[in-house]
Amino acid sequence: MAEPVRISDITLYLRCPRLVYFQAMGRKVWPEAASLSNLLMREVALSLSEFETEGGMDLDAFLRESLERAKLELPTIYPEGINTSDLLAAAGAVGEVVGDLGSKLSEKLGLLTPSEVEVDLRSDRLGLSGRIDRIVSRGERDGRRGEALIPSMIKTDLPPETGVWRGDRLRLTGYAILLEDKTSTRVDRGLVEYPWAGEIREVELHSSDRRRVLRIRDRVRAINEGKLPDRPRDGPCAGCLVIDSCETRATLASKFF
Ligand code: SF4
Repeated sequence: MAEPVRISDITLYLRCPRLVYFQAMGRKVWPEAASLSNLLMREVALSLSEFETEGGMDLDAFLRESLERAKLELPTIYPEGINTSDLLAAAGAVGEVVGDLGSKLSEKLGLLTPSEVEVDLRSDRLGLSGRIDRIVSRGERDGRRGEALIPSMIKTDLPPETGVWRGDRLRLTGYAILLEDKTSTRVDRGLVEYPWAGEIREVELHSSDRRRVLRIRDRVRAINEGKLPDRPRDGPCAGCLVIDSCETRATLASKFF
């Protein structure tokens, strides 16, 4: 049986289908290792799932403590050689934002708890897999745990003026489909967290998004099997790591598959 298509590959496909092709060939297709400040901010955001269990601590103090812990633990979590002075500089940048985060998030924190973080999901039936940042369980406070499960993603870019980015909604839909398959519970909403902006946005997931995710899954699967997709006219080609290989691949080649 073929390996399931990863939800992250759906995001990559939306960026550029050809990036999926070159990644399947074992090429490194995207320059960013996430920046240290984004990695630290992500750790701080993940820690919010533990806030209620900390008993009595105010949110500002909790976030500052989370940042300190992330600073200590990051070299263990990502052991690829983190430079200490870069880490301290990144922690300083995150600390400036974390100072305001408590007041921005205090009203919205109920959207994120109770929850579990970094949950692996996989469905051979759907041919999809992925790791969701957080799954919120709504209804537990009323003694109705599991009444509604809400997938939530942490994004280290900034949010659009309203709602969430289209790619984020599709990715959330992918996680929602996987969660439904695992729990046999309908999942029709999701959250996107933008911690740099102190925003948590809730979105409804539509049938059209589900259809689109499944079609992209099919296309990613075909690409992983060797189909060369056409070059998009508006691909993010500036700075692309595989631009030389891409330009020498005749689009026509895909038609012989
Ligand atoms: S060069 Fe452009 S079209 Fe080719 S893989 Fe990179 S982003 Fe996609």
